[in-house]
Amino acid sequence: MKYYSTNRTAPPAGLKQAVTESLAPDRGLYMPETIGRLPDSFFETIERKNFREIGLAVARTLFGGDIPGDELETIVEGTLSFDTPVVPVGENIYSLELFHGPTAAFKDVGARFMARMLSHFTAGGSDSITVLVATSGDTGSAVANGFLGVENIQVVVLYPRGKVSDLQEKQFTTLGQNIRALEIDGTFDDCQRLVKTAFLDPELAGRLTLTSANSINVARLLPQSFYYFHAYAQLKKIGREDGVVFSVPSGNFGNLTAGLLAKRMGLPVKRFISANNRNDVFLDYLRTGVYSPRPSVETVANAMDVGDPSNFARILDLYGNITDRVRSDITGYSYTDEQIKSCIGKVYDETGYMLDPHGACGYMALAEGLNDGETGVFLETAHPAKFRETVEEATGRPVELPESLKAFAGREKRSVPLGKDYPGFREWCLANLV
Ligand SMILES: *Cc1c(COP(=O)(O)O)cnc(C)c1O
Repeated sequence: MKYYSTNRTAPPAGLKQAVTESLAPDRGLYMPETIGRLPDSFFETIERKNFREIGLAVARTLFGGDIPGDELETIVEGTLSFDTPVVPVGENIYSLELFHGPTAAFKDVGARFMARMLSHFTAGGSDSITVLVATSGDTGSAVANGFLGVENIQVVVLYPRGKVSDLQEKQFTTLGQNIRALEIDGTFDDCQRLVKTAFLDPELAGRLTLTSANSINVARLLPQSFYYFHAYAQLKKIGREDGVVFSVPSGNFGNLTAGLLAKRMGLPVKRFISANNRNDVFLDYLRTGVYSPRPSVETVANAMDVGDPSNFARILDLYGNITDRVRSDITGYSYTDEQIKSCIGKVYDETGYMLDPHGACGYMALAEGLNDGETGVFLETAHPAKFRETVEEATGRPVELPESLKAFAGREKRSVPLGKDYPGFREWCLANLV
């Protein structure tokens, strides 16, 4: 399968190139040239398949031409070492819990898959690959843990100082081995800009093979479609598969884009909702037809504090740049910190279900936007314990840490402080990376 650039001025790339380069040379994002459909027979019996079987069928459709079957099976089995259950929360509203992986956020799926795929492509070779990853919290932990100890790969996590929770920070600053963390005096957008600039720097490119594990990378993005299929299978099992609406708490829109791709692959989804915090440039776009990125603002749902979502180009591309076509599949809602906190408290009081601040946006968008005859599923993108202070304040209850996260709490942070200007970052790379 070939991957084209959304800017359409770079030549198409093979999978290995798309994964190792991340961004096309013309700064566009790679997209699969054809999006294969799963056969009707797959959906007829999907409720009897488990997560790994579903993941493998989807992975074969996406990557079957590029990775031998047994290798792909190993990659999928290794990735999906945990479940993504669908849990009822309210009337017609279900939570797709994506936080049962090692770092308790949905990004574990994409990060674990990408680490395994990259390792497949570098196996036996002498090349070493440097993964640069900008994070507003959860990406860094998922990527660092997904790639920990993987041979021939070094990971550098860039994160905004003081803007991620202590626990998030611990998950990528305490690992050692092939993982390093840079604490940037700036915002998430600054971190993302440093990473993007580094990719286009000829001197760095001459010395290092750089790639990104943000959702700009197809190996991170595409496997995120697996759990949409698995969610549908679980709904079908209980006879609730008609009129499914997925509400996706969105930041860089990788998760939502993976859902849109699942729909193109034949998944019978009715429509999608983009649920946002006050960083709602996408909602503005849906309203006005004009996309105007702006600086991000800090919120309690900080993994969605993104002012210029990187996957916007992919969404436009999927709908042929026609806003009305985008609008026919996606609607949007946005919420303030006050609304998020009050929702967490209210849902806990009424149902006993504990939302995290991101999932709360997804829940509210369904409560507000679901029509008769629809079944709503919001993506619960992180465990509430990752945002402990907010959730404890909102519910008045202590939040129990999942076992996987307890291990990080006592470890010692090691990170390198750096300014947000490119020359300093570049100098650090040249001096520290080989
Ligand atoms: C990353 C993240 C998001 C946003 O996902 P995108 O794919 O960037 O839209 C939402 N919630 C949580 C908890 C996250 O970690």
